[in-house]
Amino acid sequence: IRTIGILGGGQLGRMLSVAASRLGLRCHIYEPDASPAADVAYALTNASYEDQTALRAFAESVDVITYEFENVPTSALDLLESIRPIRPNRRALAVSQDRLTEKTFLNEIGLRTAPFADVPTESDLAAAVAAIGPPSILKTRRMGYDGKGQVRITDAALLEWTGAASVLEGFVDFSAEISVIIARGADGQVAAFDPGLNLHEGGILRTTTVPCGQPARVTTDAVLMAAKIANALDYVGVMGVELFVTPQGLVVNEIAPRVHNSGHWTQAGCAVDQFEQHIRAVAGLPLGDGKRYAEVVMENLIGDDMDRVPDLLATPNVQVHLYGKGDARPGRKMGHVNRITG
Ligand code: ATP
Ligand code: MG
Ligand code: MG
Repeated sequence: IRTIGILGGGQLGRMLSVAASRLGLRCHIYEPDASPAADVAYALTNASYEDQTALRAFAESVDVITYEFENVPTSALDLLESIRPIRPNRRALAVSQDRLTEKTFLNEIGLRTAPFADVPTESDLAAAVAAIGPPSILKTRRMGYDGKGQVRITDAALLEWTGAASVLEGFVDFSAEISVIIARGADGQVAAFDPGLNLHEGGILRTTTVPCGQPARVTTDAVLMAAKIANALDYVGVMGVELFVTPQGLVVNEIAPRVHNSGHWTQAGCAVDQFEQHIRAVAGLPLGDGKRYAEVVMENLIGDDMDRVPDLLATPNVQVHLYGKGDARPGRKMGHVNRITG
């Protein structure tokens, strides 16, 4: 494999292409947005997912196709897959694109999720709230990220609609949120990074800390669950699994079929980071050693956090990553820092 096609030109695609170039591989990025973050790639196609000619030319220019973004339309994937393999596979993508399918799958393989109910239309909401009860969270089945498309329900008499087919989730009273970044190779070999502790603010990931401070029985269980998911999906690539720690055990929040924001610490904590691990897996190379050799706090730079960049650049033991996005809108992820704390 010489050239990797990446669907999506955000910061994840950018960091994947940097990792690929270190391994002597080329990347070709497909991105509808006119000014993507991933403009460091070898080639960039700026076209919509409806443009069949552009999709075909893109697929023919690469050896394998991966993605940094899970909401690629099915019609585009069908066309691409008729030309080149897509890794991770279509099932992994279908399961994680839709919160209802995702939770159903997780329960089927014996993993716990928040209690949930299907809420196809606004008129189904009252019955779902009666079954699941407040406090609960209504989430659109598709397209949500950074807490978008979610409504918190604290009072059954005050219901608000998301505007699209949704699931209602019971509120999980967790003591911590952790995530596992796991890689699975084409030969079925699995390698997990150490679980990280995640803090969110306003639905957006703020920091990830390793080590995560949980006992080994929790971190071991978390890794075993992530491996079970990867194996069940015959997964090839890196996957992020978000979990809630509760007194009754781990509850899976969601899975992401791609490199994950909570895995950015691996850039400063491991010889082979999550981006290289993903490229290795999809290119059919052996997985690297993901052992953690440092303590790291990853902090996202969101919106006007960018004002702190001059200071951060002058701070010892801090690795600064900037995504090259022009417009520092509130809530927009502009970069991150990895602070090596030990
Ligand atoms: P991401 O950017 O991680 O993809 P998202 O929009 O898919 O975010 P979720 O991960 O579903 O959103 O939720 C965001 C955050 O909201 C969670 O990390 C957690 O802090 C909180 N949250 C979500 N669902 C629940 C729940 N059922 N119980 C308690 N807290 C929850
Ligand atoms: Mg999500
Ligand atoms: Mg999440």
